Amino acid sequence: MSAKLMIVWDYDTALGQINSTMPYNFSYKQIYEEIENVDYILEEAARLNMKMTFACVGFVAEEGVFPFNNPEQIRKIYSLGHEIASHSWKHEWFPYINEKQIEKSLERSKFALEKCVGVKSSVNGFVPPTADR
Ligand SMILES: [Zn+2]
Repeated sequence: MSAKLMIVWDYDTALGQINSTMPYNFSYKQIYEEIENVDYILEEAARLNMKMTFACVGFVAEEGVFPFNNPEQIRKIYSLGHEIASHSWKHEWFPYINEKQIEKSLERSKFALEKCVGVKSSVNGFVPPTADR
């Protein structure tokens, strides 16, 4: 008997960590650890021949300053055959922003991630940046 397992990695990236720690409880150490953890997961996924979905904050895919922007890692994830999904543009807390702002966040995230990997219509999944606690 075979089974399928779907693994989605919530890749907050630097801006997501800043926003999701509301906002004064982040550290560079955690940001760099998350980047290293994703590289480790990519190695393990390759070793196990697994494909995953990485829900990424769109801002990271834009050109800019590392570690806030890290388009190389997004391209690496995609080039290894994993799905890139949107995790909003800046990990905004959707219950606190209006519909128009949500729409803009989704559009910009999808645009940035697709531009980064160079494939139109490649980003179709979405993992909300807000969870009930
Ligand atoms: Zn998140």
